[in-house]
Amino acid sequence: MTGWQFWRKAGLDLLFPPRCLLCDTALRQEAKALCENCLLHVEFLRSPLCRCCGAKVAGGPERVHFCGSCLRHPPPYRKAMAIIRYDQPAAVLLHRLKYNKDTSVLPGLARIITAAGKPDFPHPDLIVPVPLHRRRLQERGLNQSVFLARLFFPGRLPDIHTDLLRRVRDTPAQTTLDGSARRKNLRSAFLVSDNHRLQGRSVCLVDDVFTTGTTVAECSRALVLAGAEEVLVLTLARVIPAL
Ligand SMILES: [Zn+2]
Ligand SMILES: [Zn+2]
Repeated sequence: MTGWQFWRKAGLDLLFPPRCLLCDTALRQEAKALCENCLLHVEFLRSPLCRCCGAKVAGGPERVHFCGSCLRHPPPYRKAMAIIRYDQPAAVLLHRLKYNKDTSVLPGLARIITAAGKPDFPHPDLIVPVPLHRRRLQERGLNQSVFLARLFFPGRLPDIHTDLLRRVRDTPAQTTLDGSARRKNLRSAFLVSDNHRLQGRSVCLVDDVFTTGTTVAECSRALVLAGAEEVLVLTLARVIPAL
């Protein structure tokens, strides 16, 4: 930043202090996008979690745990990880990005990702955001998973592939369906466009919210069938039903 730019920014901050994206509180200059109070309400996911699907499991953090569901039906991905619980206030930011094309929330999401610390996650060769169907993309104007992939892997933009996996069926909203209907609904909804690039590679699939895991499981299945060695799943949030 040149001297002029520094003074210009300082002057603008004085006139229009940066504000919290969620509660509109004026922020101290060094605070980024979200105030401390809003950040306190974000629930970061901590162990003990299932080593495969990332679900909360009982027991101490020192043991190796798999949840009952992964033991009975191992999913087609190697490991799924979410940073936070899907809840207010982060859900508000995601909703604004997804349905209102509001990219001004990105610094807030970046702050949450940074606050979570370095994830315990294997280094993937390729990064693939979960795709939207062409029609849905036109409607919404952006794919939130692409933006999240950039926030998760800011130094690896050339490794983010948005053309490798395609959603070829515009399926009804998953939220209205139960488990087996969800799987049927998504069967053959995803297609790999270039098998060659996937051979023997580890892929990190990125999505915004892990709800039942059906979407990421169907994407993982398509990627593994096309030759990927393994699929890792990284989502910003995970739906955890209240007990
Ligand atoms: Zn706030
Ligand atoms: Zn599990």
